[in-house]
Amino acid sequence: MTFQRSLITAALPYANGPVHIGHLAGVYIPADIYARYLRLKGKKVLFVCGSDEHGVPVTIRARKEGITTQEVVDRYHSLIKRSFADFGISFDIYSRTTSETHHQFAADYFRRMYEAGQFVEQTSEQFYDPETGHFLTDRNIRGECPRCHAQGAYGDQCEKCGATLSPEELINPYNAETGNALTKKETKHWYLPLDQYQPWLEDWILNQHKEWRPNVYGQCKSWLDGGLKPRAVTRDLDWGIPVPVEGAEGKVLYVWFDAPIGYISNTIELCKAQPEKYGNWEQWWRQDDTRMIHFIGKDNIVFHCIVFPAMLKAQGYNLPDNVPSNEFLNLEGDKISTSRNWAVWLNEYLDDFPGKQDVLRYVLTANAPETKDNDFTWADFQARNNNELVAIYGNFINRALVLTGKYFEGRVPECGELTDYDRQTIDEFCHVKATLESLLENFRFRDAQKEAMNLARIGNKYLADTEPWKLAKTDMERTATILHLSLQIAANLAIAFEPFLPFSSEKLRTMLQMDAQIGWEDLGRIDLLQTDSTLGEVSLLFEKIDDSLIQGQLDRLARIKAENEKAAQEEALKNWRPSPIKADTTIDEFDKTDIRVATVLDCQPVKKSERLLQFSLDDGMGGRTILSGIAQSYPDPSVLIGKQVLFIANFPPRKMMGIESQGMILSAVDADGRLVVTTVSAPVKNGTQVG
Ligand SMILES: [Zn+2]
Repeated sequence: MTFQRSLITAALPYANGPVHIGHLAGVYIPADIYARYLRLKGKKVLFVCGSDEHGVPVTIRARKEGITTQEVVDRYHSLIKRSFADFGISFDIYSRTTSETHHQFAADYFRRMYEAGQFVEQTSEQFYDPETGHFLTDRNIRGECPRCHAQGAYGDQCEKCGATLSPEELINPYNAETGNALTKKETKHWYLPLDQYQPWLEDWILNQHKEWRPNVYGQCKSWLDGGLKPRAVTRDLDWGIPVPVEGAEGKVLYVWFDAPIGYISNTIELCKAQPEKYGNWEQWWRQDDTRMIHFIGKDNIVFHCIVFPAMLKAQGYNLPDNVPSNEFLNLEGDKISTSRNWAVWLNEYLDDFPGKQDVLRYVLTANAPETKDNDFTWADFQARNNNELVAIYGNFINRALVLTGKYFEGRVPECGELTDYDRQTIDEFCHVKATLESLLENFRFRDAQKEAMNLARIGNKYLADTEPWKLAKTDMERTATILHLSLQIAANLAIAFEPFLPFSSEKLRTMLQMDAQIGWEDLGRIDLLQTDSTLGEVSLLFEKIDDSLIQGQLDRLARIKAENEKAAQEEALKNWRPSPIKADTTIDEFDKTDIRVATVLDCQPVKKSERLLQFSLDDGMGGRTILSGIAQSYPDPSVLIGKQVLFIANFPPRKMMGIESQGMILSAVDADGRLVVTTVSAPVKNGTQVG
């Protein structure tokens, strides 16, 4: 099958916040590199994306900011759209799932599947807030994490330890917004019976798509090995696309049902607006000579490889040919998080680094999390800019152009006789095209960009080795040949880097006055620039980035980290609930523990221990010493002297830091982890038993 056209989709970002470097590195830059590469080759391409404006995160954001949900999606849709345009992400259309076209098409999609009997109806018990009368989605339920016992874990995930959770697992689940405790109530929903698609999916993915990236193939295989279950495609919510069948009042399409349909409805919107350019929308979705590629992040694999293909198969649409998915990008060693503001936001980046879109594109591709999670650091950002873009690529271009200006009045000099070294250099860079193509076609963008940078290295080395600035004093003919070849390499660099660094390539094309017709197929040729043609005005392609700018970014992150720690502590205090009552005990069991009253005679920190306090007690029985790990809660332990406290008298003695501890002082643990020693409210005799 030869494909006539390529449909490239990029995961729809949630319109609940601006886009950050993790989005760009994971999905949009790789998708854009691929789309630009195909266009540069003269292929027919449609690159589709849009904002995902349904789902719970936008409603949470609205309540947090005190505005309507519509205002939230309007605000972030336009912000996201502008950021993508600013960074040169070359979508043919960037629309939104609140569009009229999408609402209608997604509702029709559901109805057609419903009428064809492609859903099953099921009633189940869901978490419900009796005070507000709402069912809650996973994201709206919070509680204590069953794994790490952090407070405020979400119903689908614990942000502290990263565990994937279901709301059923949370300890003391509550409504994230009202704080109300939850009950369970029956509700009816429609399910996509994925179990019925299992044999087909197994054959389609596991047998026919062994070429998919190992992380994608592996995740699909583990889902399939676990056995697919029916998946609800509707939700009890008031924000979204109403379920268009009878008996579904108050229910909307699950965001994961409607969002990927957005790829189709956005295609429809574009084709209807510009039919002469893009043709009929159905050729992109129904004709088998169209190749579809979904670019996504790893959290989207199951939806794009299993759920959405089942929906497409059910309605006779094309299936994706490949689903290149990246792993996650971290920031300075920590998980990027919108809610914790731990991110580099694209709009803020441009305020701090105006005109440096390509630098970020370059660094994110050089460091792309293609096979494993990766880390973005500002030190690496600065080093790659200064040592690679400026010192290699920029330096080569600048030398070639400035010397041509100096010796040949800014005209491409004539090429004389070639030396063996010239031929060897030409030979080296002529191979670049084939290597780049094979890497790009296999979605290995990181290595592909490295290869383009190698071409710049070849040029830089060629100039450094031949030293035309010295030769110019004695041999102008040889100088002309060297600069002629250097300018041809420069023109090749403009093409090779175009998918990766579109802004710089455009600038370079203008400086070299390159013919606009020169495209990918010309890569590797040494006659791209005509002898004697005039060059344009010369300026620097890249500039050094100073330490002070980098320090500013690190300071900002340090401030955010401190704010987050404070907020997490406040959150823990606010959401604290008593732990569940332990299993039943008996008076006999309790009686085995001998609790007594004693007066604190002295209390001192134990030397070389951050944790331990040493108590000297009058226990009414000759006195005893007890060590207690509460030093951090009592910066001034003398406040305890003279107080009557409770202690367990019949624990066997044990030695800590060379001191024998004879029992245990009773303390309460507060929500923030502070320990408070329990005291007696009115004086009693030391040695009195408590029971
Ligand atoms: Zn946890």
